[in-house]
Order: sequence, then structure tokens, then C-alpha cells
Amino acid sequence: MTTAMAPKTQSGDIIGQIIYAVRSMGVAPIPRNYQLFYEAYIGSNPELIRDLAALGSRTTQEELDAISSRYIATGQSAVIERAHDRLATELDALLKLLRQEQASLESYNRLLGETASRINSKSNFSSELIRNAITLLTEATGDTMAHGEKTVGTMTERSHEMDQVRKELDEYKRIANTDSLTRLSNRRAFDEKLAAIFDDQAALPVTGLVLADIDNFKKINDSYGHPVGDKILATVASVIRSNVRKEVFVARTGGEEFAIVVEGNTPDEVMIICERVRRALETRAFRNSRTGINYGPVTISLGFAMASHAGDPGELYAKADSALYHAKNNGRNRTVCYEDSMKRDYVTKSWLIYKK
Ligand code: GH3
Ligand code: MG
Ligand code: MG
Repeated sequence: MTTAMAPKTQSGDIIGQIIYAVRSMGVAPIPRNYQLFYEAYIGSNPELIRDLAALGSRTTQEELDAISSRYIATGQSAVIERAHDRLATELDALLKLLRQEQASLESYNRLLGETASRINSKSNFSSELIRNAITLLTEATGDTMAHGEKTVGTMTERSHEMDQVRKELDEYKRIANTDSLTRLSNRRAFDEKLAAIFDDQAALPVTGLVLADIDNFKKINDSYGHPVGDKILATVASVIRSNVRKEVFVARTGGEEFAIVVEGNTPDEVMIICERVRRALETRAFRNSRTGINYGPVTISLGFAMASHAGDPGELYAKADSALYHAKNNGRNRTVCYEDSMKRDYVTKSWLIYKK
């Protein structure tokens, strides 16, 4: 198993590696198994990799499915998302209806009360009769209102329960979109965000996709071990997060790779933001407070492209990636903005997740 999983760092051909691993482990070549191995190979969840690597050579489908249900939320999340939206819509509509109902009953009651007091003020013969009629009507309305209020009470109670379900679903959605190691958005959330960029055509000139990759991270892992590597990854994530505005989308898209979607900024401003993040890392001490060992400096390379320079999410990703490739090739620890002359270069590089 470990051997089957190992070629990841030796070649960039991720699909080939997945097929190789599935075949050599004797795993059934079915879509959900490929998806499981895909998640493992993009490295977005170290626990998933660990659990998969811990399986014996005669892995059963049940074991694989158990891991899938633990870490892969794609299938369920679509269902849950639909349930979530429906629940929210139903709840809002129901409460609106009930409030309208109550408001109309209240105004009806007020009207009757006013009529009764007007009749009361006149002392002619038929007033007694009318007063009785009004009293009866008012009582009837009072009963109706009491009934209505009870209904509202019951519905409010129910709505609290539904609200609770909504909160739980919100939490589920948050977990499904969060990277467990860094607490940033994960690859799934990033894919959604990337696709949504092109919904707002007017914003494309001021929307930038930044891809960042830790420099020589393999060396850090090799020198200090994987657990230290994980800690450094989490620290890098928090440095990135704290150097951009709160509403800026930041994701860990794979092993030691991050994406930032900058909105409302010109290319020059995106460059300034990237450089701020890069410098914050470059100058940050990565020292173990107990042993005094200095793991640093830890640096990142960044590449970005503006959404207006791409026709679709795939092209935008490829162009930002191409810029990142140039940052790596030109000495690392730098930011590069995509230019048309870079177009073809990214095809040849080996450290990409995506290849075209
Ligand atoms: P470059 O500057 O070209 O990006 O070099 P690099 O060494 O960072 O790149 P390479 O792709 O060769 O290595 C990436 C390393 O990241 C290999 C892998 O062991 C490590 N890695 C990926 N995911 C994780 C993780 O979740 N935790 C730890 N500790 N290491 C990880
Ligand atoms: Mg790297
Ligand atoms: Mg990388």
C-alpha cells in the first residue's frame, strides 16, 4: 500500500499514479474508489492519506467505503445542500404567512372594538341589540385570535427546531468545505469559488486568482519529519490568512499549495497584497520554542492572473499556475503576474496538480 501510494512525489502524472495504485492494490476500478484515491493524491487531507496507507494489501470494499464516508462528503453534500436550501425557504415562507395571518386578525379585532365603542356612545333603542351582537362577534374574534396565537406559538416552536437543523446543516457544510489541518477552505470550496468568479462578468477586471506554493517544502519534511512539516503548513496558512482582509477567500488547494481570490483590486494592488504575504513569511521566525531549532526561513512563491485575462475558470487557473511556475523558475520566493508570453510554459512542469 505504502509503495503503491509512494510515486506521488516522483511524477506529476496524477491520473497515472491513481490508476497504478488502484491496480496494484487490487482495488475495484469503480468511480468511488478512483475518487477516494484522487482525494488522497491531491494531498488535501493528511488523515485520509494515513488511513488509506494503513490498509492491508487485501483491502475490502467495505474498508474503502468506510474511509470514503469518513472523508469524502461530495455525494452527501449535494443532497444536504439541497435539503438545506429547501428547509430555509420553507421556513421563511411559513413564518411570513403566519405573521401576516396574525397581523390581519389583530387589525380585524381592533376594527370591531372601535365599532363597538362608537355604538356604545349613542343611546338609541337598537343600541342594546347591536351591542350584544358586537359583544358576540368580539368574543368570536377573541377565540379566533387565541387559536391563531396558539398556532403561531406551535409554529414558532417548530421553527426553532427547524432552525436547529439549519444550524447543524450550516456546520456540516462548513466542515465539508474546510481543510482540517489549516482551517482554511479546502479544494472543494476552492473549486466552487473558482467557478463562481465568472458569474459576475463586470467584476472580472478587478478579480485576481493567486496561487502560492511553499518553496522546497520537501526538504523541510526530509530534514525535520512530516509532523513538523504539518505544523509549518498550518503556520504558513495562518500567516497568509492574517495578511489579507477577512473577507478574502483563502484555500489550501493541495499538499503545500494555497489559493487566494482577491476581489475588487487592480493587478497592481494584487501584486502589493501578494508581496505583503510573501514578505510576512520571509521575515517570520519558524523556531521551536522548546528545542530552539530554527526551521526557517520558510518562503513561498506566488503567481497570479486577473480573471479578465481568462475565458473560464480552467484557463484562469492555468494562467495563474503558469505565473507561479515562472516564480519558481526564476529563483522562488517571489511574486509573478501572468503575461501572455508565458502561455505554453506550464505544460512542461512536473509539480502541478492540474495538467492540460
Ligand atoms: P518547490 O519549491 O518546487 O515547490 O519544491 P517542493 O519541495 O516544495 O515541491 P515538491 O512538490 O517536490 O514537494 C512538495 C512536498 O510537500 C512533498 C510532500 O511530502 C509535501 N507535502 C504535501 N502535503 C503535505 C502535508 O500535508 N504535510 C506535510 N508535512 N508535507 C506535505
Ligand atoms: Mg513546493
Ligand atoms: Mg507543490
